[in-house]
Amino acid sequence: MNFASGLPDPRTIPKNEIKEIIAEAFEIYGYQVLQYSPSSGLSKLVKEVIKFVYRTRGLRANLNNVIIVSGSQQGLELVSRIFIDPGDIVVVEEPTYLLALNVFKLRKARIVSVPVDDEGMDVNVLEDIVKDLKKDGKKPKIVYTMPVAQNPTGVTMSINRRKHLLELAEKYNFIIVEDDAYGLLSFDYEQPPIASLMGLNNVVYISSLSKVLAPGLRVGYVIANENIINKMYVLKQFMDLGTSVLGQAIAQIALEKGVVDKNAEYAKRLYRLKKNLMIELIDGMFFSESWRSNPKGGFYIWVKLNKNIDTRKLFEQSKRNGVIFTPGANLCVNTYRCLDAMRLSYSNPSEDEIRIGIYRLSSLIREMANVS
Ligand SMILES: *Cc1c(COP(=O)(O)O)cnc(C)c1O
Repeated sequence: MNFASGLPDPRTIPKNEIKEIIAEAFEIYGYQVLQYSPSSGLSKLVKEVIKFVYRTRGLRANLNNVIIVSGSQQGLELVSRIFIDPGDIVVVEEPTYLLALNVFKLRKARIVSVPVDDEGMDVNVLEDIVKDLKKDGKKPKIVYTMPVAQNPTGVTMSINRRKHLLELAEKYNFIIVEDDAYGLLSFDYEQPPIASLMGLNNVVYISSLSKVLAPGLRVGYVIANENIINKMYVLKQFMDLGTSVLGQAIAQIALEKGVVDKNAEYAKRLYRLKKNLMIELIDGMFFSESWRSNPKGGFYIWVKLNKNIDTRKLFEQSKRNGVIFTPGANLCVNTYRCLDAMRLSYSNPSEDEIRIGIYRLSSLIREMANVS
């Protein structure tokens, strides 16, 4: 039972449609799908992405604002290389996305964290931090946030906090890196991206088709002002000469035919059901002292056991029982604050695996609580 990784549910990957699309890609593009192409991305895909982000997220961009990347992960790497020098301050949410944290660490950034509550990143805390930094003549270079269905809490940032964050970015001159990986997987209501509220001046928007079509295609996109996109274009050439052309052609046709939009709707409904199932089980089986987030979308639930249990030790035990999850300490800058926390992913396991896995996990937690 894998509650650790954030793989999509296999049912949400439309393999029959994609098979047909691959054949079409060869008809439409001919040998070009196997040829080098511009590092910025296939121009037909860029156009489809522009329509897609406007249609689904209300985000306006033109041709100079978009670069196709090999997954959001490459977008994060590009942002880091452009903005972060050793010792620069990067603000992240706590808890946050491990693979972003590691990218920033690799650049030798000084990482500062801001807690997440039910409304997302606590922007008032951020404001205090930024004010304090200013007294020392410092500022964050970037503030990294996942405003929709934050990984790992599933929390969505309120509109007031989004606006407040933008005001701070303008006033204190930092870049907001908006990771919208789960932008199309909000269960109840949609929130506009931060990048759509006041233009692209202080925001770099990153998303991909990984969570709504197929992560194996490695097709993502960054939307930002022209200056930043041009720098990324040059850097990306060094990194990979360009994203897989076949992957881009598949993405382009899937977007044009509406396959992505339709698939995202299906995925959203499925994840909502699985989220509800896992929550019901957690509420019935974990301790009354435990606290869990209330995910508004995405793949994950964040649980704090509040029982003085080190979830890294719990992990060792549960692994032997065939259940894995992500210990909270891995996802926090101040690891001590997250020792008794864990991220449980409901995206990939089947409904039966969720039932069995949560049952086993809760039995183990009870055992550990009695022993300690
Ligand atoms: C899954 C995920 C990514 C990486 O996705 P790719 O587009 O496949 O590289 C980036 N950010 C967050 C928050 C994610 O959960």
